[in-house]
Amino acid sequence: MKSVTIAGGGLAGLSLGIGLRRHGVPVEVFEASTFPRHRVCGEFISGVSEETLEALGIQEDLSDAGELTGTAWYDHKGRVFSASLPSPARGISRFRLDDRLSIRLRELGGGFREGERFASERAGEDGVVNATGRALEKGSAWLGLKAHWLDFGLEEDLEMHLGDDGYIGLSRVEDGRVNVAGLFRRRPEVKAKGSDSLLAYISACGLDSLVSRLTAASLDPDSCVGVSSFGFGLKGRVGETGFRIGDQRAIIPPFTGNGMSMALQSAELALPHLLAFSKGLSSWEESLARYQEESERYFAGRMRAAKWVHPFIFSPFGQKIARGLGRSGLLPFSLLYRAVR
Ligand SMILES: Cc1cc2nc3c(=O)[nH]c(=O)nc-3n(C[C@H](O)[C@H](O)[C@H](O)COP(=O)(O)OP(=O)(O)OC[C@H]3O[C@@H](n4cnc5c(N)ncnc54)[C@H](O)[C@@H]3O)c2cc1C
Repeated sequence: MKSVTIAGGGLAGLSLGIGLRRHGVPVEVFEASTFPRHRVCGEFISGVSEETLEALGIQEDLSDAGELTGTAWYDHKGRVFSASLPSPARGISRFRLDDRLSIRLRELGGGFREGERFASERAGEDGVVNATGRALEKGSAWLGLKAHWLDFGLEEDLEMHLGDDGYIGLSRVEDGRVNVAGLFRRRPEVKAKGSDSLLAYISACGLDSLVSRLTAASLDPDSCVGVSSFGFGLKGRVGETGFRIGDQRAIIPPFTGNGMSMALQSAELALPHLLAFSKGLSSWEESLARYQEESERYFAGRMRAAKWVHPFIFSPFGQKIARGLGRSGLLPFSLLYRAVR
């Protein structure tokens, strides 16, 4: 069988590597960082089916993830509405999950070249899958920050706080930890660094009651990470070179809690086409074209819906409408939840 090289050992790259190894394909994954490591992520996995986990052969690695069933949404005036999630989500840290998947890949005989950056000019070569995550977008207005808190009393499995030019999701992961992740419009006037920057940004969003609750609990300083210079949307249109999965293929706004599910689903969609390539049943170009068409069809609807809802969540006008609908019980939460999955 021909071998497959995967650039990027995040969720997409590792799960694809495992899926390919389960079919006997020789696989080598290059990962620039070393594990375990924290990543900017809400760590709230919603929308991926058991069938996808099974197809990739990673159900066991997610079997002890917490089951998250309730959500409450807040603005600076307090709780806007609460709801049961239309289907349970999973809570597990990337610190644990990605490390676990890298061990699984090695157990299955896959190569995992930790601490080795794959040369970007080789990303379009035959047999190379690009799973390097968020592409650099210069001039982007977005900033993502995350950290774990201990001894924090969550009011629901998922708390979402909408502020001025930012929103923050809080959810339970393992070992009594609560993951706090926010997406913010960058504010040059906020000068805080390191572990102070997340609290400074939440405060700048006008969410002082959340700041007080977090300040009363204990922050794990080693878990604070940040990311900037990224954008949202589908990349790698039909006809373009480069076999992209995960965030390299499509980045959905984080309020959906669907990015990791998309990373796994894109790996699942890629699997049969890479198998056909590896077995010599189709050329690289044919495999790539089929995957691009299929994945574009598969993700286009939710990307459109998320693009439409996202500005609402960020704008004071949209938040006012959401508050009105939420408080009067008229917010079509289940419908919106399904539309971005
Ligand atoms: C603020 C925020 C909150 C989020 N919250 C959620 C959430 O609650 N739920 C959800 O489902 N999704 C969430 N997401 C999205 C989710 O984190 C991503 O969709 C997911 O991590 C994508 O996985 P990936 O494998 O494509 O990329 P990544 O997980 O980013 O992995 C890419 C890997 O490639 C490596 N790499 C990069 N360049 C190279 C190179 N040249 N050579 C070798 N290795 C390289 C990186 O080190 C990294 O390990 C959130 C995102 C943000 C910004």
